[in-house]
Amino acid sequence: MQAIDLFFPRLTTVSKVVITMHQKPDGDAMGSALGLYHFLQSFGHDVTVISPTNWANFLDWMPGIEKVVDYERWRDRGKALISEADWIFCLDFNVLHRTKHMEQPLTQAQCTKILIDHHEQPQAEAFAYGISDTSKSSTCEMVYDFIVASGHADKLSIDIAKCLYTGVMTDTGSFRFPSTTASVHRMVAHLKDLGLEHTPVHEAIYDNFLETRLRFIGYALLNRMEVFYEYNTALMYITKADLQRFDIKTGDTEGLVNYLLTIRGIKLGAIVVDRDEERKWSFRSKGHFDVNTFARTHFEGGGHHNASGGRSSDSLETTAAHFKEVIKLYQNQLQ
Ligand code: 5GP
Ligand code: MN
Repeated sequence: MQAIDLFFPRLTTVSKVVITMHQKPDGDAMGSALGLYHFLQSFGHDVTVISPTNWANFLDWMPGIEKVVDYERWRDRGKALISEADWIFCLDFNVLHRTKHMEQPLTQAQCTKILIDHHEQPQAEAFAYGISDTSKSSTCEMVYDFIVASGHADKLSIDIAKCLYTGVMTDTGSFRFPSTTASVHRMVAHLKDLGLEHTPVHEAIYDNFLETRLRFIGYALLNRMEVFYEYNTALMYITKADLQRFDIKTGDTEGLVNYLLTIRGIKLGAIVVDRDEERKWSFRSKGHFDVNTFARTHFEGGGHHNASGGRSSDSLETTAAHFKEVIKLYQNQLQ
């Protein structure tokens, strides 16, 4: 993988471009993809964002999202776009299998692939150009850096600002995680100078759920949470019946894991959701406990030091029991 600045001279050659991100895109994945989309469009490129799967409703206000192709619904169209592309930008994921059914067409595509990502241990050999920086708050911050470093900061528009602010806000937990550096605040200051209104963005993302989701959270906190004080760990498990009872949609379980870390002294929070195809894990930690390694070692996943995810093909009961066994190995590190 060559340094991303070597790609900058090619920006002005009109090209067919695909931008993609990890499955079930969150605010950072969708925000970075759409921010880059508006930027590249301003050069006259033919740009399409392809999402590997559907996404949460609370992203539907984002400028340009109505043009995003959901690969699970429009597979033939997605395949054709990938095979015709000159460049494919891969944003906010480190390994191609995080694009689910797109992994194979992406691997086979012979065009120029570019990575912009902040997860640990990227699959660098799969990309011609790229930047992987785990110290960055978000892929949105990296797309901002990309735009500024390329010498085209004059192309930053309000639409780009809204998209990029979204991912920086969501991935930093609204500017509270340690990844919230001075550069993050400088970037936001720049976007504000350009005229960004941040309150509507915050409200569109966080104050946009149905009543059922709030009742679901209450139910889960009461009935589906276990706390293991000897390991400073809290676990939440959500059954298929729970998802049906409260009509839970993509995105409705996002953020739930953070409640676990609000208990005094808790250093590891984990939630497992019984999805159709797999049991999906989310891990969050405070301080030095490394949930990237934890997810990689025990739950077929990875991510960042303090936030990671994983999966299991076992039943909900089995994978939850496995978790309760595994934390015993980390009793010292969790003190
Ligand atoms: P979440 O718990 O919100 O799904 O994910 C937390 C962080 O870990 C995000 O940065 C996400 O991209 C990453 N992540 C989630 N699941 C996986 C996974 O299965 N593999 C890897 N490598 N990263 C993941
Ligand atoms: Mn991210």
